[in-house]
Amino acid sequence: MSGNAVLVINGGSSSVKFAVFRENAAQPDCYGQASGLGTAQASLTYTLNDNEHSDTLPSANHHCALEKILAGLDQAGVLQSIQAVGHRVVHGGHQATQAVVLSPDTRQRIEDNIEFAPLHNPANLAGIEACEKQSPALPQVAVFDTAFHSTLPAIAHTYAVPVSWRQQLGVRRFGFHGINHHYIAETAGRILRAENLPSRIVSAHLGNGCSVCAIKDGKSVDTSMGFTPLEGLVMGSRCGDLDPGLAEYLCAKLDVNIETLTRQLNRDSGLLGVSGSSSDMRKVLQASAEGQTDATLAVELFCYRLAKYIASYLVPLGSIEMIVFSAGIGEHSAHIRQRTVQWLSALGFALDDTANHASPAKQQSIRNISAAHSRPVYVIPANEEWMIAQLTFQQLLSL
Ligand code: ADP
Repeated sequence: MSGNAVLVINGGSSSVKFAVFRENAAQPDCYGQASGLGTAQASLTYTLNDNEHSDTLPSANHHCALEKILAGLDQAGVLQSIQAVGHRVVHGGHQATQAVVLSPDTRQRIEDNIEFAPLHNPANLAGIEACEKQSPALPQVAVFDTAFHSTLPAIAHTYAVPVSWRQQLGVRRFGFHGINHHYIAETAGRILRAENLPSRIVSAHLGNGCSVCAIKDGKSVDTSMGFTPLEGLVMGSRCGDLDPGLAEYLCAKLDVNIETLTRQLNRDSGLLGVSGSSSDMRKVLQASAEGQTDATLAVELFCYRLAKYIASYLVPLGSIEMIVFSAGIGEHSAHIRQRTVQWLSALGFALDDTANHASPAKQQSIRNISAAHSRPVYVIPANEEWMIAQLTFQQLLSL
């Protein structure tokens, strides 16, 4: 493979996604995923030069998976052109304002922030350690999910709680999904600039976790997730916004401690809690279509809360020039987009029914789904790996 390239690593709790991008390329030369890590079913699938490959990795952990990935890239002649590795790191704390080349200080910061992201930061560190072990000479770049939201003004990131909690304990709203919101800010910003429209966008990232972000002139000015990814929208199994007064009542009535309650608000709530059947939107929509009223309530609540958040961003933005839907639900569910945008007609938004129901073949592409008289509504497929690659190339310039 010719040209400079970076390897992108996106480590989750039981998976490692990876991709190799050449400089200025829109598509990766190679991408894949090791999944089910730590289980007997662990496997590796990847696409190299449009050919698909798969392999089993029984009981592999992050280290074994990365060893296999790097050995495969070496064998295919790809490793030689890789100049750096860009890692998605979920929590960078309040000091993280941009991607950084890893130093002992940055690594310490990622470790210090484990208490804020106990599931994600250790998995991200495992990816970093495995790459350092495999290829010690390669620079490692940390790209933080929280960094895009470092531009939130104080009125958007401050909780109305005692000053000592904020100053001594670092209690504030951080926001998450920043890498994809950043990608949408750049992509949607380009589209608006070409139309001579102000760059005022609401980005809705709707996957298993869901968040919305108000983006003004390329910068995050408000977002729905807070100190943790539990705040905001209704999600797959997370409750989103809740009256904090409920915690004491529930702990007493259910006779559980705060750890158990927090786990239930993260894992048993959201679409799963309301529908009583699944955290997976496809299954909840199916159950609703079959007449299950709790599933219908879950879908309607999801769209209502989302629409309320989008409308509220009229305050920080002054006007909403574009709404963008992204990630699994946002990219694939015409029904969710339609029910959400129906609430927003007073803000000048309406969908084109045919465009909203695009064929699956078209679903991978950026597309305008708004009616002719509407302000633009776009579907922009999530592309965190590409964004991490761009931010990694930028950091290489500083070396
Ligand atoms: P993650 O946050 O884990 O990356 P994804 O972005 O893959 O998640 O989104 C997963 C969600 O997308 C699930 O709720 C899934 O049901 C939903 N989804 C995927 N395809 C469709 C579809 N065709 N219709 C409705 N929801 C879908």
